[in-house]
Amino acid sequence: MNKKTLIIGAGGVGNVVAFKCAMNSDTFGDITLASRTVSKCETIAKNIQEKIGLHIQTASVDADSIPELIDMIQSSGADIVINVALPYQDLTIMDACTQTGVNYLDTANYEHPDTAKFEYKEQWARDEAFKKSNIMGLLGSGFDPGVTNVFCAYAQKHYFDEIHTIDILDCNAGDHGYPFATNFNPEINLREVSAKGRYWEQGKWIETDPMEIKQIWDYPEIGPKDSYLLYHEEMESLIKHIKGLKRIRFFMTFGESYLTHMKCLENVGMLGIKEVEHKGMKIVPLEFLATLLPDPASLGSRTKGKTNIGIFAKGIKGGEEKTVYIYQVSDHEKCYAEVLSQGVSYTTGVPAMIGAKLILEGKWQGKGVFNMEEFDPDPFMDELNVQGLPWKVIELGANETRIVD
Ligand code: NDP
Repeated sequence: MNKKTLIIGAGGVGNVVAFKCAMNSDTFGDITLASRTVSKCETIAKNIQEKIGLHIQTASVDADSIPELIDMIQSSGADIVINVALPYQDLTIMDACTQTGVNYLDTANYEHPDTAKFEYKEQWARDEAFKKSNIMGLLGSGFDPGVTNVFCAYAQKHYFDEIHTIDILDCNAGDHGYPFATNFNPEINLREVSAKGRYWEQGKWIETDPMEIKQIWDYPEIGPKDSYLLYHEEMESLIKHIKGLKRIRFFMTFGESYLTHMKCLENVGMLGIKEVEHKGMKIVPLEFLATLLPDPASLGSRTKGKTNIGIFAKGIKGGEEKTVYIYQVSDHEKCYAEVLSQGVSYTTGVPAMIGAKLILEGKWQGKGVFNMEEFDPDPFMDELNVQGLPWKVIELGANETRIVD
């Protein structure tokens, strides 16, 4: 029987997911793209029609409202809901999925609008409800989280008996020509980057000040870049699922202009997430800032350069110490030429489509709520190679590193 797919969220990532599902319409069948602002869905649908000649449905939905979501899911007849709205909507969409008995996938950890802290607790707590409804929930099927989790599972399966340390390395060397803009939702991005850093070592979380730890890593096809230690959500699930792990850290590159702007904005209170009174109106400074900044979806046509995201893992195989680096390089301009989005939206949207494809094709199956590394990585890694995100593996000596400084 023909499948039906519901995508919620029509931002930069939603655009890529809609394009890529349409390009794989044998699997995804009838596609509906729904979001708060229906005109954004209509623009994407028009572009898909013009570029690949496929018609998708569009609709308006408020994903903060469970009754609206239930109506939307039922009227679309969906077999799966791909949630690429904001992390604030994860729980309402998950609850609408359990109430309608429809599979669920997202790309970002739930976050409460009033607290800049993300964790899996509330999503994992829905495992029982997903089991009872006989459905599958796949959490974090973007690039990081997402592909980085699959890279770890692949390294564990094919290269190591035990992985001892993992550094997740996220480099965006793209240039959009603006002095300051974010490559995905500005509010979510700035909350993540301005928060305290955290990494896990010998069973404990160690907190750092924001941007306190900097290393210069040498990224293939890009070169050396300043990389800063951040907390990132995939570490919370990887410490549960990777055998013998002793330490895991996450590094992301930032240019000087970005960091200087962010510091100034923070110093004057523009990153605040609590309401302030302004001329009789209540505003949240970060929400107002997001209104002023360029829409990430509009950066596509002007971004040049590459991204390189991967994992650098050390451990043992057959008693010998070894190091393995698995990474993927994308080119912003090529992404735009294919689906009218820059590389950050592309590298998130393609894995969301692949996760959903594996669920619909029965290659990843389960009842309950899962993280990516819990499944066989091989079919996902194969899909990455054919769906636009080819990856590479480098095997290095036990003591070799790519840290320049
Ligand atoms: P955007 O802000 O560009 O798009 C978000 C979309 O969700 C918009 O269309 C917005 O509607 C819609 N939306 C927001 N609130 C609601 C609501 N209540 N009901 C219905 N629709 C709503 O974000 P991105 O596309 O950049 O990011 C999408 C998701 O991807 C985010 O969760 C982000 O954290 C995640 N992400 C994950 C990454 C990964 O590697 N795992 C990397 C990058 C992003 P409107 O147009 O009306 O505002």
